[in-house]
Amino acid sequence: MRDFPTEAPDLHEAEPIPAAAKAAIEELLQSGDLFRYTAPADAPVALLEREFAEMMGSRYALAVSSCSAALFLSLKALDLPKGAKVLIPAFTFAAVPSAVVHAEMQPVLVEVSMDYRIDLADFEQKLADADAVLISHMRGHTSDMDAILKLATAHDLPVIEDAAHSLGTVWGGQKIGTLGHVGCFSFQSYKMINAGEGGILITDDAELVARAVIMSGAYEHNWKKHGDIAEAAAKWQNKLPLYNLRMQNLSATVIRPQLAELPRRVRDGLRNHDYVAAKLQASGYFEVPPSLKPETRAPDSIQFNLAGFSEDQSRAFLAEAKKRGVGAQIFGLSQDNARAFWNWQFIEGPVPDLPKTRAMLAQACDVRLPVRLTLPELDFVADALISAAKAVKA
Ligand SMILES: *Cc1c(COP(=O)(O)O)cnc(C)c1O
Repeated sequence: MRDFPTEAPDLHEAEPIPAAAKAAIEELLQSGDLFRYTAPADAPVALLEREFAEMMGSRYALAVSSCSAALFLSLKALDLPKGAKVLIPAFTFAAVPSAVVHAEMQPVLVEVSMDYRIDLADFEQKLADADAVLISHMRGHTSDMDAILKLATAHDLPVIEDAAHSLGTVWGGQKIGTLGHVGCFSFQSYKMINAGEGGILITDDAELVARAVIMSGAYEHNWKKHGDIAEAAAKWQNKLPLYNLRMQNLSATVIRPQLAELPRRVRDGLRNHDYVAAKLQASGYFEVPPSLKPETRAPDSIQFNLAGFSEDQSRAFLAEAKKRGVGAQIFGLSQDNARAFWNWQFIEGPVPDLPKTRAMLAQACDVRLPVRLTLPELDFVADALISAAKAVKA
């Protein structure tokens, strides 16, 4: 019975794609028109870009093959010299420093605190020597964007937001992804909108988007299918490499009907998170960092710290949780974790000394909370985690 689960819910099971997508996909398959630039206008990818930009209140959107591609193109489109230094948080997904390396720039890792947010003192110190800032709102946790934007503006540095996991988050009344010069989002399956793979960037900067459009693979005059960027794009004709990171129409057709689902998903995700967070916090075993004051989150997972657990106890806790059917990870304890900075050995030079981030990664536990979970299922997850901690601490 679904109301009284005796079995753990599947924390990786996706929500079905809205039925409206099926008819649109059928029609698209009938036409065979999968390439975004075949139709003279209104291809599904172009419609998605228009709808997404409108939803976010941005002037331009460019849909691409992944958020990593969006980050790479954003960095390239800044038109910085080779080797430019890009500040990124030391707690993020390996694809983020990878995008910087791919763009032939140098990632500079900034310390992250126990609340998963950028350490502002370290940020300010490293800013003096930086050429750009890439803020990863990791697991949807927003760093203090007021302070970051103020400091970056004072140093005249562009800010890219990696909002891959923050679609629907609001900061001081403004949508995350619209605070910096460019915002990048993901449509990979573990994010708020699921197309398997896909990404999109938004900006108000015509020059920047024109460069990104061309480099994404708008060869010859295909940039004419991107709205009012003609003046900027004509200037860059034949002057930029084509990386061919386009989105195809099938992905856009899967994504478009999900845009209307976003407010519900965000609402449910926040409800689920706050419900489990209150239970975990009240248990006395865990510390769940609160959100910042200006922040209204859109989570589909929960992070909490195993404060006062030894490493052995932490490992035992994961095993006890798994026994109860709930999969959890501690970012710094699993082998080859893609979110542990010491595993980013593709970055040139020695592994940086980042004691704060290292301490956080040793304690920070991560559990997926898909937005479709019901309250009884959330009870199951929370109770399993608390009972696992009890077993370890007994
Ligand atoms: C998922 C994710 C990415 C990568 O997105 P892709 O679309 O898979 O390239 C980057 N940054 C963060 C914070 C993410 O959560």
